[in-house]
Amino acid sequence: MNPAAPSTAKSAAPSPSLPSLIGMSREDMAAAMAALDMPAFRTGQLWHWVYFHGAREFSQMTTLAKDFRALLAERYSLSRPEIVDHQKSADGTHKWLLRLADGNEVETVFIPEEDRGALCLSSQVGCTLKCGFCHTGTQGLVRNLTPGEMVAQLMVARDTLDEWAAPSGQRLLTNVVVMGMGEPFYNYDNTAAALKILMDHEGISISKRRITLSTAGVVPLMARCGADLGVNLAVSLHAVRDELRNKLVPLNRKYPLAQLLDAARAYPTASNARRITFEYVMLKGVNDSPADARELARLLRDIPAKVNLIPFNPWPGAPYECSTKGAMRRFAGILNDAGLSAPLRDTRGGDIMAACGQLKSASIKAGPRSK
Ligand code: SF4
Repeated sequence: MNPAAPSTAKSAAPSPSLPSLIGMSREDMAAAMAALDMPAFRTGQLWHWVYFHGAREFSQMTTLAKDFRALLAERYSLSRPEIVDHQKSADGTHKWLLRLADGNEVETVFIPEEDRGALCLSSQVGCTLKCGFCHTGTQGLVRNLTPGEMVAQLMVARDTLDEWAAPSGQRLLTNVVVMGMGEPFYNYDNTAAALKILMDHEGISISKRRITLSTAGVVPLMARCGADLGVNLAVSLHAVRDELRNKLVPLNRKYPLAQLLDAARAYPTASNARRITFEYVMLKGVNDSPADARELARLLRDIPAKVNLIPFNPWPGAPYECSTKGAMRRFAGILNDAGLSAPLRDTRGGDIMAACGQLKSASIKAGPRSK
């Protein structure tokens, strides 16, 4: 990783008390407008200001009458979560630590590439699951995020990148992956509501083909997600035998490998053009042998799949080490020979602890408060 010192920035705390328009669905917004005796077409205008222009003040909404703007400002807020910390890694990765209205904190990461970039959203404060290699999972769930708290993560990123209302071809934030803190399927309704807002063509407008939801394997919700949302699926696999996966991803005890792979096989949008991503963290001497690679290729042989090999990113007290470069190359080679795309993912943002499995906010460090 690049060792250069990260740059940091902070924002002022939001005004807390008024309900936020951020996270409202069209239906919610229409109901709010009706309650203010506003005609239905105002909903479309407001939606456009909130989610297309990313307005931060009602005074910016110049197509709305002044007294209506004043009324909105009395009743609602457009405030984002407070940016407690914003770091930019030497490799261009951004990480924001955001404080929510109740004082809990979440992390969001943006990973730029040459002509595109993915924003990694969190879906929970902490996580319901306790995957053995994951920093977030070490202290359990604090609470689920609301749709507004998920959408606001993207809004903060677009604010920082100054990409509101930019034509889609000129944006760097092109993709969204729900792979940050949390298991999104254990907060499914809120995650689905947030993603529907992100996908709306008259607002933030990120295509379902550019959104990937990652699960540790909550089998019963996989088909529903594909049918409801049509987004891409990623599965945190990490092991090819139940015995080891029970340890690395304890959810496997509930939904073992055979069930998980059946659900992946049946995932509604899976095709050669939209392959399911299988995440596989490379752990030295644990899951990185040639036999593991061959078994992985066998398990995925009849699924439209690609494999993301993730070098393990250590965190303080981590019980694992990253596989050697040679072991990772050998592993990838076996998968490639079996016809699977298996890029060895670069570690990004390691100097700011923004890499996969490293996210852990102060809220979690303080310990779970509720379930
Ligand atoms: S890897 Fe994902 S699902 Fe597992 S504990 Fe970490 S955040 Fe939760």
